[in-house]
Amino acid sequence: MKQGIVYFIGAGPGDPELLTVKGRRLLQEADVIVYDRLVHPILLMETREDAQLVYCGKKPCQHTLRQEDIQKQLLIYARRGLKVVRLKGGDPSVFGRVGEEAELLAGHEIDYEIVPGITSGIAAPMYAGVPVTHRKFGGSFAMVTGHSKDKHGKPVLEWDSLAKGIDTIAFYMGMKNLSYICEQLITYGKPSTTPVLVVEWATFGKQRTVEGTLSTISNKVVQQKIANPAITLVGDIVSLRRKLKWFERSTVVSQGIILPEGNNHSYLKAMLAEARLDVYEPSQNVIEGKDTSYLSKLDSFKELVFLSKESISIFIKSLGRKGKDVRQVQQTVYTVDSKAQEELQTYGIQSSLLGDRMKMERPLFLGREEDRFSLSSSMNKEFAVTHQKKISSVFSETLHRLIDDGHADTLLLSDCESAHSFLHFMKEQGIDSDQAGEYLSVFCIGKETAELVKREGVPISLVFSSKEEFTEWLTAESSLSQAAKA
Ligand code: SAH
Repeated sequence: MKQGIVYFIGAGPGDPELLTVKGRRLLQEADVIVYDRLVHPILLMETREDAQLVYCGKKPCQHTLRQEDIQKQLLIYARRGLKVVRLKGGDPSVFGRVGEEAELLAGHEIDYEIVPGITSGIAAPMYAGVPVTHRKFGGSFAMVTGHSKDKHGKPVLEWDSLAKGIDTIAFYMGMKNLSYICEQLITYGKPSTTPVLVVEWATFGKQRTVEGTLSTISNKVVQQKIANPAITLVGDIVSLRRKLKWFERSTVVSQGIILPEGNNHSYLKAMLAEARLDVYEPSQNVIEGKDTSYLSKLDSFKELVFLSKESISIFIKSLGRKGKDVRQVQQTVYTVDSKAQEELQTYGIQSSLLGDRMKMERPLFLGREEDRFSLSSSMNKEFAVTHQKKISSVFSETLHRLIDDGHADTLLLSDCESAHSFLHFMKEQGIDSDQAGEYLSVFCIGKETAELVKREGVPISLVFSSKEEFTEWLTAESSLSQAAKA
């Protein structure tokens, strides 16, 4: 049997776009993905729909898969001839145990490759506005563990050399031992006034930063309830932050928002991104309709009205399957937006935008079943269902991780149809109505959406009459929280 292969891939510190191009390609090709808690759940949507996902998330004090079991799993899958990705937060070689895992594979003569990633010890300070080296602030930088496996969990280090010999130190996994770390550095000779920076959930929208000195930082971190994952950077270089600060979350409105595709989707998405909120969009599959009988009576229609971009390509493909092509389209063509118009142009078809009170002789509307309801009743509706959209099963693992690991706390539903299909998807995933309300604050745009959500038994947090009202609310909340910060 063909041997499998294991790719150790660094997923970067959080922001999904900080994954390497090579990492993304391998992730898309993998049969099995074994991933950690610090990997951004949104990356799981890059995987193939039939890929198997294995979570070995280690929440502090709660081990899902033990290290030996993870190693065994890699071995088992590779021996089955599969392409296995071992996806790790940051860089796999920085406190990532890639050495142990690769050694085992080498011992069993299983091929592996290692794809580096961006390590949090460098990215976290940078996202808080601090480079880890600078000519003015000395020439050495160290990455150091902030804990150990001994019975107290305290890091066992050459404190003397560290305090005196290294200008800038990044501590990983150091939150529990922060006061010990600071005391040791002071005891061994670092001035107690040395600046310290702590960055929690760096590069995520919910990134938080606390600044202090070796003598003050521990209290500040306790006060602000900063927890792992966080990087602690010690050194005079931290003072650069005042000048170089660039990525800071402007709001604490939400940890992250799930936004299923619905009305005004691109508008809402752009606005939430502007408020620097993490937006999670469930990926969707387009499923072609089976009934193409409308094609045989195409000549009887005077107008064709495409209600979405997808309906255009499906129509053309279906024509092709019948041995026909666009030259058969003698009708006047209408569509709903400029994107769909561009799509039509790629097939050489000119179109007009659909208006409210258009006079048509004998139109055929093409789209999803749901699009039918968006048409005014005055339109005589001969309708061809070209396709339907379904939330992809690839999103299911992402959804669980988003909720369980606290990356998303809000669900924004912008119309009845998307509300219905998303709540249905949650149920399929074993998250029932009560739980949905427990884990997520549910925001609805439109009274009808709210009524539907209520009927489904999901508690609603806020209802907005329109997208404009939601925008106003978001702007007000953002400035309130900024004022509170200042
Ligand atoms: N291989 C990883 C480190 C794994 S050890 C890397 O190269 O980044 C886990 C520690 O990494 C955490 O305890 C925390 O100190 C740090 N860490 C990982 N992701 C982080 C993030 N997004 N923000 C802050 N610290 C992070």
